[in-house]
Amino acid sequence: MPDDVVTMDKIVSLCKRRGIIFPASEIYGGIANTYDYGHYGVLLKRNVVDAWWQAMIGDRDDIVALDSAIIQHPRTWEASGHLAGFTDPLVDCRTCGQRFRADHLDAEHDVRCPRKPSVLPGQGPDCNLTEAREFNLMFETTIGPVQEAGSTVYLRPETAQGIFLDFKTVLGFARRKPPFGIAQVGKSFRNEITPGNFIFRTLEFEQMEMEYFVPPDDAHRWYLHWLEARMDWYERLGIRGDHLRLRAHEQDELSHYSSATSDVEYLYPIGWQELEGIANRGNFDLTQHAQHSGEKLEYFDQQSGERYVPHVIEPAAGVGRATLALLCDAYDEDEIGGEARTVLKLHPQMAPVKVAVLPLVRKDGQPELAHEVRNLLRRRMQTEYDEGGSIGRRYRRQDEIGTPWCVTIDHQSLEDRTVTVRDRDTLTQDRVAIDELPDVLAGKLEAPWISPKLLVED
Ligand code: ATP
Repeated sequence: MPDDVVTMDKIVSLCKRRGIIFPASEIYGGIANTYDYGHYGVLLKRNVVDAWWQAMIGDRDDIVALDSAIIQHPRTWEASGHLAGFTDPLVDCRTCGQRFRADHLDAEHDVRCPRKPSVLPGQGPDCNLTEAREFNLMFETTIGPVQEAGSTVYLRPETAQGIFLDFKTVLGFARRKPPFGIAQVGKSFRNEITPGNFIFRTLEFEQMEMEYFVPPDDAHRWYLHWLEARMDWYERLGIRGDHLRLRAHEQDELSHYSSATSDVEYLYPIGWQELEGIANRGNFDLTQHAQHSGEKLEYFDQQSGERYVPHVIEPAAGVGRATLALLCDAYDEDEIGGEARTVLKLHPQMAPVKVAVLPLVRKDGQPELAHEVRNLLRRRMQTEYDEGGSIGRRYRRQDEIGTPWCVTIDHQSLEDRTVTVRDRDTLTQDRVAIDELPDVLAGKLEAPWISPKLLVED
């Protein structure tokens, strides 16, 4: 496998240049580990989330959707263990005032002292680190107008707990029995202090989590099922198989309640890192919430007369990390006619814009026909119209955001109502009748696809 040209710096600068993703609060100098998504970023992220919903509730009958509150009753976090145990060990440097994760001070994490020489924290001549202290990652706020009189609540650090709190309600109306799942997508918040790698680790981030409730004896089988299903999902997004792996947690890495956990990892430019965690959580969460709330959280099978607390398999993914993996996997540079090109070779179904409609010139009736073509396509797929600049520059603009096809209207189009369809990856240009164009492009969108970067590597 030849070296990929992608680096995190190139991704950051492309995202900024094209308004895909950029630092938040920039007019005030930015805010740590927080980013905003612009137009193309929103479209890309939405494609990731839509693909997840499709896999969870479009392609299967055993999962239902939920959208629970971000601020839950504070006892939720007592029962879940987050209040006591959702902490990172931190050390401060008395010399430079920087704060570091005590468990990230090794060469593998490559966190650096901000002073010269650039060494690992604690190894510079002036480094003076404190003892490690546990630091809770939950953001705290208050309900009520007066801070002192209000009650302390927390922004959820994961969406999963809302699912457990609603288990009984959902079971009541969903007409499902184990094995069945509850899926949700939403923002979570963690007071992460480690300097992030772009959107890899942010203070607020979207999670796609599904809790799959199963009879206790079937838990391991379903754990294996979800490992495979989730790996397949990332490959279906077009991510190269040789850049994905499953890593099983060692015994000493496991949470106390989990009998098995594996991470789906992607080979980011910063190395292999977690995209998603898949855990066999046993009956820990339902049991804890039953104890703390006094509600029975179990399943009663009327046919067999059996009563049990289901076990839970949880695939928990991050929208931002999946989006970042797609960007890194798709990023490429090549040359067309001696000119350098940056291109995102995204799976067409993931591309923010599927087709750009471009009149060759801004006269002779071409823009009018181009608008007609755009209107023909816009209800079928995300389209964009662009008439500004030379055709080469417009192609390049679309390449940079990963648009798989450009439809060009030229003088011949006005004579015979045909257009050219230019392919982002092969650069071929085919003539297609306007009447057939929507079906031709819809067919291409549905066609099997593998990353062109793999074809080059072969
Ligand atoms: P890490 O070890 O990288 O901090 P984690 O094991 O704490 O992650 P989980 O609690 O398993 O993460 O959360 C599930 C998923 O949510 C992760 O696989 C990741 O995709 C996403 N995620 C977690 N924390 C963050 C964050 N701070 N920023 C962006 N995404 C995150």
